[in-house]
This record gives sequence, C-alpha cells and structure tokens, in this order.
Amino acid sequence: MILTTHALAGAAIGKNFGNPWIIIIFSLVIHYIMDSFRHGEYLDRQSTLENTWWKVALDLFFAMAIVGFFIIFKNPKPSETFSILLGSFFSMLPDLFTVLYWKLNFKILKKLFLFHAWIHKYPPFSPERTWTLRNSANDIIFSLIAILLLFF
Ligand SMILES: [Zn+2]
Repeated sequence: MILTTHALAGAAIGKNFGNPWIIIIFSLVIHYIMDSFRHGEYLDRQSTLENTWWKVALDLFFAMAIVGFFIIFKNPKPSETFSILLGSFFSMLPDLFTVLYWKLNFKILKKLFLFHAWIHKYPPFSPERTWTLRNSANDIIFSLIAILLLFF
C-alpha cells in the first residue's frame, strides 16, 4: 500500500495506544497485514530511483501533511504527538527496508524483503497491483478508517 495509508494507520495506532513498544509492534504487524490486501502500486518494472523518487516524495508529503494537520489542528499533548509520529514512522519502515534492499542492495534486509514480497497476495506487476482506482479501493477504505480513528 502507499506510504500515506501506512502513515495514517500508524498515526491512529499511536494516538490510541500509550506504550511505545506496543505502538512499534502493532505498526509493523499491521503494515504486513494491510499489504496482504489487494492494492495498486505506483512502482512498475520500469521504476528506478531516478524516475520514482518524486512519487515517493509526494506520497511522503501527503502522509506528513495529514498527520501534521492533525497535530496542528488538534494540538495533542507532547507525549501523544510523540506516539503518533512513532506509529507513523514504524508503519512506513518496512517499505523503506524494501527500497534499501531492492535498489541499494542492503543484503542484510534480504529475509525481510522476501517476507514482504511473500505477504502480497498477487505477484509483482500483476493486473491486481497496477495503479488503478479499482486497486486503490482498499487504500482508500483503510485511510478513511485510520482518519476516523485519528480524529475522533
Ligand atoms: Zn509494504
């Protein structure tokens, strides 16, 4: 799923749990569970760091904009803000690991990379993983649930 969806889920986890270890573990586990649902990706066979970095940057920008809007608008306690940022970060971390292995060859991350690939229901570059509105349905649903849990 896109980073925005993961970051929102992590922010919702952070807001609703106080213990940092629970937040970290939940955020990581829920990342993999969410990725097991059908979802489109903006990466394809032609993706390189050079032609894809701006999509990742835009995705990250939206993630931080919504979480930042929440923090500015709702002004949570510092401890709650920390939990929200912690959850967002650890919710996105598995995808950072994937990029580090896939494009920069960090060999130590191979097992995590293979697990991350295995958890996806559909094979890479299959029609169910292309960047279409149909394939974004689960991203939209999960993001809306996360926003509800975050804001209310
Ligand atoms: Zn992922």
